[in-house]
Amino acid sequence: MGDLAEDETTFYSNAEDYWREVAPTVDGMLGGYGSISNVDINGSKAFLKKFLGEADGKTGKGCALDCGAGIGRITKRLLLPLFDTVDMVDVTREFLDEAKKYLGADGKRVDNYFCQGLQDFVPGTGRYDVIWIQWVIGHLTDEHLVEFLRRCRDALRPNGLVVIKDNVSYEGVVPDDVDSSVCRDLGIVHRLVGQAGLRVVHEEQQLDFPKEIYQVHTLALR
Ligand code: SAH
Repeated sequence: MGDLAEDETTFYSNAEDYWREVAPTVDGMLGGYGSISNVDINGSKAFLKKFLGEADGKTGKGCALDCGAGIGRITKRLLLPLFDTVDMVDVTREFLDEAKKYLGADGKRVDNYFCQGLQDFVPGTGRYDVIWIQWVIGHLTDEHLVEFLRRCRDALRPNGLVVIKDNVSYEGVVPDDVDSSVCRDLGIVHRLVGQAGLRVVHEEQQLDFPKEIYQVHTLALR
């Protein structure tokens, strides 16, 4: 049929089928690159700490949202240590179930486990100091990504921050038929962020990742 709406349905359902078969482990979350998790988390911590604090204009430490959270790799080591409470959202039920064990005792500070695709998820208005979106934007169509980022903007507390940390291609859109995602270049990501009414306030490339994987960039938006 070559129908666009049908292509979109397949894009999402293939991704759901892919993730349902992935082991609920750190290695599973990182496509076999579990060994980079420490470098990733430490880089994220240094990035985020530039914004957090008590002084005027600083981002609060009340509540964070982990988007495409999986088993909670980021929630456990980045967000729970920095924020009073965390919400998690992911489309894969099995990962959220595993999170309840994986997070251990601190998991009691996870207020909500939302099992939904980000294309459908509506974060609570004015609820979050930080909305962390890592290694999942490639699973959304351009239109859904823009709309989701708009909803994220509305979900921020004063001085809140949306953070995207993801793979970037050298040029254009590179599809991945295995997990049903796309990798966009930095220019495209910037354009979509702008369409969502957000501004890039800080940007870094994650250093010390293996040479053979995509470059990873972290963008702070508000
Ligand atoms: N951000 C986590 C997990 C990355 S793996 C980390 O860095 O450790 C990608 C995650 O995105 C998986 O948990 C998968 O279930 C989830 N995912 C894929 N498509 C999604 C969608 N449309 N909406 C929400 N989550 C999605």
